[in-house]
Amino acid sequence: MTRLQAKHPGESEYLQAVQEVLESVEEIYNQHPEFEKAKIVERMVEPDRIFTFRVTWVDDAGQVQTNLAYRVQFNSAIGPYKGGLRFHKAVNPSMLKFLGFEQTFKNALTTLPMGGAKGGSDFDPVGKSDAEIMRFCQAFMLELWRCIGPDQDIPAGDVGVGAREIGYLNGMYTKLARQYNTGVLTGKGMNWGGSILRPEATGYGALYFLQNMLKRESKEVQGHKIAVSGFGNVAWGACKKAVELGAKVVAISGPDGVCQIPGGIDSEMIDYMLEMRASNRNRVEDMAERFPEKAHFVAGKKAWSVPCDIALPCAFQNELDAEDAAELKANGCWCCCEVSNMGCQPDAIKFFQHNGVLFAPGKAVNAGGVATSGLEMTQNANHLSWSAQEVDSKLHFIMHSIHESCVKYGTQPDGSIDYVKGANIAGFMKVATAMLEQGVI
Ligand code: GLU
Repeated sequence: MTRLQAKHPGESEYLQAVQEVLESVEEIYNQHPEFEKAKIVERMVEPDRIFTFRVTWVDDAGQVQTNLAYRVQFNSAIGPYKGGLRFHKAVNPSMLKFLGFEQTFKNALTTLPMGGAKGGSDFDPVGKSDAEIMRFCQAFMLELWRCIGPDQDIPAGDVGVGAREIGYLNGMYTKLARQYNTGVLTGKGMNWGGSILRPEATGYGALYFLQNMLKRESKEVQGHKIAVSGFGNVAWGACKKAVELGAKVVAISGPDGVCQIPGGIDSEMIDYMLEMRASNRNRVEDMAERFPEKAHFVAGKKAWSVPCDIALPCAFQNELDAEDAAELKANGCWCCCEVSNMGCQPDAIKFFQHNGVLFAPGKAVNAGGVATSGLEMTQNANHLSWSAQEVDSKLHFIMHSIHESCVKYGTQPDGSIDYVKGANIAGFMKVATAMLEQGVI
């Protein structure tokens, strides 16, 4: 780790992600001298390559704007590079390296043949018009298109990149490549190669994983109070499925504060989340303004301040710290299912684990999104169009398998499950074995 720190100075998020995995796999790694001999860990913690490029575009005021953009192709031992694109002002190489590293393990857990990648830009969508979003996406694809392809690298959405952005990106790709290729991006529109249920899949998959966790404890989702952070695509899908399963979502939060919803979120409010995201205002207060009789806004507070049974972080990395974890526990929370990538800080995870709060990490919980991207790729390659029931039953199966892998590798002597360890070891074993079998490359 010390050598890695020296090689990646200041890349704290990346080092945090690597540290967690190394801690989890240490024991099993030491039982496999062939991994050590092939220097699997030393190779696995470095991305295969990183493309960096400038994106220049013109805003609505006629001003020339320049952003930085990247594609981190992390690991392709088990399949072509696969992972989302993030547009957010805080994007930098360290963030995309941690996300690409996590993606490699997550994709390995899905049971599908996908390697790991991540990309994006420090472009800030907040306050941008639709026309500005389109011009930025087009300028971004002008560079990215040479690095991607259906058997090479298949990007998708992530924070700040949803169906609209994928549309603009795909339009420009088609123009540049002079061929219509459905397999180059996932998260496409339903009329042009997209998979039914892809928009819902991350949130739905998270709730299916939660169901599996609770089943082991002889509990169910129904009747419990849930606090959710965020109001983007992932939070939207999670709220939809939580309500369908009979839970009560009592809080959603944003960068400006939290909306308390004592009666629980309803379908009208869930639909409105999509408008909030598309508006690029990035304010959760809009929900309370639109539904004053149902939601109450508190500025500067997180969702974790609202009493609940289950916490679902669905927004951004490190969004839940040790203090939040203690407040949740004190208010009666007994389960935290991390939906955002690395949503909980290491101290918060330790607090949950040491205080009897069930915890599962993002790379297991949110894998339903990329898994359904994999299902979209299969449909595209075989000219199929599966029904919602078909996709949903495959998603159920995949989330169940991921849960089983966590149980296989994470069962502790006292019978409890360390989901962090289980997910990391399961992902590691698959990628490490594939690397070993393919030689030193
Ligand atoms: N960005 C999502 C993730 O973190 C989805 C990636 C994809 O569908 O390729 O897994």
